Amino acid sequence: MRFTVKDQCIGCGMCVVRCPQVFSLNAQGKSQAIADDVPPEAERSAIDAMVGCPMAAIEPVL
Ligand code: SF4
Repeated sequence: MRFTVKDQCIGCGMCVVRCPQVFSLNAQGKSQAIADDVPPEAERSAIDAMVGCPMAAIEPVL
């Protein structure tokens, strides 16, 4: 399981709070997801972050 963050991210930081193992804010103040597979123990919180994103900016990479 991997995620990507789309351009409509507004940098609110909610995903970083919910799942810091996967999401972080970059130098532009937008969220980015780790490039590697999500660690199994972080999958639940990563999905919570995706569902909770107010801009629907987080998508799974299929
Ligand atoms: S929750 Fe959504 S809008 Fe907020 S920083 Fe994360 S990806 Fe961006």
